[in-house]
Amino acid sequence: MNSNNIVDMFLEIAEKIESEKDYITELDSVLGDGDHWVNINKGYQEIVKMEDTLRGLPLSELFMKVGMSIMSVVGGSSGVLYGDAFLKASMTLKGQEAMDLQKGHEFLETALDAMMSRGKASPGDKTMIDPLFSVVKAYGDGLEKALTKQELGAAISRAAEQGMLDTKAMIAKKGRATYREDKGVGYIDAGAATMYYQLDILGKHICK
Ligand code: ADP
Ligand code: MG
Ligand code: MG
Repeated sequence: MNSNNIVDMFLEIAEKIESEKDYITELDSVLGDGDHWVNINKGYQEIVKMEDTLRGLPLSELFMKVGMSIMSVVGGSSGVLYGDAFLKASMTLKGQEAMDLQKGHEFLETALDAMMSRGKASPGDKTMIDPLFSVVKAYGDGLEKALTKQELGAAISRAAEQGMLDTKAMIAKKGRATYREDKGVGYIDAGAATMYYQLDILGKHICK
């Protein structure tokens, strides 16, 4: 995937997120303070505004710009976590014109590490980290098994969905859901839901 492909993917994600306002707001209203959609949507709408600039940038600079913009415009936990993840992951693409399957995995793994260390959270804590963790694992397994692009894309989308669904039964160990007596058991985490949208669309774009 080159810069144009990434921007096309971002635009599709922005549209998806914009259309899920009610659902995401409801999820974060149950477990958190209800602003997750506003936060993440603001980040993606900023990316939409930067479309032309981003298309002309080398990959690492594209993601660095996205990270810096998220850091500055997005509030809440999401701003710091996504900002840091994009900034650190952008370094894996220094000097690269395009991202191949191996690089894509390295990028996601670096983003996951950045989010885990910034948020001091682990997989299983009922956060946005859960679908990302599932995808990094499935993607790595898929590369080892030398899956075709199509199979790999499908595996990524499946793992993203499963990682999001798995948060329903989890006991929250990080984030605002920990303030609830029931620790959010029985509800999907809002951050996991928006992470799923992004990774599901990534899975669909990777097969192209
Ligand atoms: P805030 O909770 O500050 O209002 P958002 O609503 O934008 O921020 O994001 C909430 C989401 O952030 C949660 O649904 C969860 O997925 C994620 N989250 C919260 N705390 C952490 C953490 N320490 N590590 C990773 N993810 C976290
Ligand atoms: Mg919130
Ligand atoms: Mg908030």
